[in-house]
Amino acid sequence: MPAAGVGGGRCALYGGARLAAGPEINETKETEMLADRQYWAPELEAMTMPQLRANHLGRLKPLLEWAYNNSPYYRESFDAAGIRPADVDSLETFSARVPFITKEGIIEAEQAKPTYGGFLAVPTADLARIYVAPGPIYMPFTAEDFDGIAETCAVGMWAAGVRPSDIADVTTNYHWVIAGTQLDASYRKVGCAVVPGGIGNTKMHVEAMRDLGVTTTFAFSTFFVQLAETAKEMGLDLRRDLKLRVALIGGEMKPKEAIAELEAQYDMKVREIYGTADLAVVGFECDARAGMHLGPHHIVEILDPVTHQPVPEGDGGEIVVTALFRKAMPIIRYRTGDVVGYVSYDSCSCGRHTPRLGPIVGRVGDIPRVKGMFIVPKQIQNALYPFKGLRRFQMVIDRPQLGDVLTVRIEAEPGVDRAGSKAAVQKALREAIRIGAEIDFVDAGMLPEGTPLVIDLRRA
Ligand SMILES: [Zn+2]
Repeated sequence: MPAAGVGGGRCALYGGARLAAGPEINETKETEMLADRQYWAPELEAMTMPQLRANHLGRLKPLLEWAYNNSPYYRESFDAAGIRPADVDSLETFSARVPFITKEGIIEAEQAKPTYGGFLAVPTADLARIYVAPGPIYMPFTAEDFDGIAETCAVGMWAAGVRPSDIADVTTNYHWVIAGTQLDASYRKVGCAVVPGGIGNTKMHVEAMRDLGVTTTFAFSTFFVQLAETAKEMGLDLRRDLKLRVALIGGEMKPKEAIAELEAQYDMKVREIYGTADLAVVGFECDARAGMHLGPHHIVEILDPVTHQPVPEGDGGEIVVTALFRKAMPIIRYRTGDVVGYVSYDSCSCGRHTPRLGPIVGRVGDIPRVKGMFIVPKQIQNALYPFKGLRRFQMVIDRPQLGDVLTVRIEAEPGVDRAGSKAAVQKALREAIRIGAEIDFVDAGMLPEGTPLVIDLRRA
């Protein structure tokens, strides 16, 4: 595996030095120096794009060799595509010729060839962690792989402003899936004290946050809503009694206004990160908040969701990712199914040169084409946001005669004047998605969690 992989020089430098600290090393001073650093991984984050691309290619080649020589799955798939690792002499060749993988494909392979579908590329004796996600999908990691996972997240945490003096409460699931242990390891890597709270027990989270002076957490925004309700029931003031100062949220497609409200409510800053269980943290916001910088440990491609060809620079499309640090189960050209609205390539005031992902606008299957236009759910979500009492929605597309008809079903709370607000909602939607839509208000609760976002009757 590549020597320039995750956690190479820097980890040995800081983690190692700290472990070995004797009386002659001034640990406080070292911690202060660490806290002053602008980037978590300066040697990579300060690179120009040509430098980073060269670094990526240098790490990619041994990864492809490793996968081909040790993973029966990749050997078979590369052979079927007529490509050998030695043929990959540029990132363009990689993008043009190396096959994709998908979550469905991994599950199918693992079912067809238990247990790891031919993906496993190390002896099981070398494994340190095995995660089990619904599917089931088994994800094996060596200790080094897991450190690589934690590293991707540490980069994002540092950019968000998390520092060694912070106290972190991990509020995600520690069981079976990677979220809890990964965040735990990442906060520890940065140097924070970690409260392994885990999922649920909101009252205990509030108490622990208050008593311990917790300053940072990663959570889904629904958690912050519950936390606020519980704190209020306990007679607490979020801004006075809790010390939260920086929160990381991920993968939720929240409108900017909702994030601003969250920041004001808790008097903390909120930074978004983008990642998946298979890839860890791929993108993260810096203080400029102008999109999510791509992290240095992944090769990210943006592809047309239909043709799977690279889109013109800056355009949106499906996010396809290669993790440069996974040895036990290499993840090469993984189609995330997530669609990004656009990508910014202009320079950023934070000094990083990496492109920034715009908002994640939906899933590949959830962005239907209606009357020739791609309808992005996030645009509908944002258009509905200013209307009080409107909640979840669903798109129903039909072609009763010649033309497409889009109906947006919207949950309305009891107080909503449905007839009175219909025209205004219709106008806001037309401005957002540039085509007319029928509005169908339904009672709150009619579109529960898990309801399909799109029902396309044209396929019937
Ligand atoms: Zn930046």
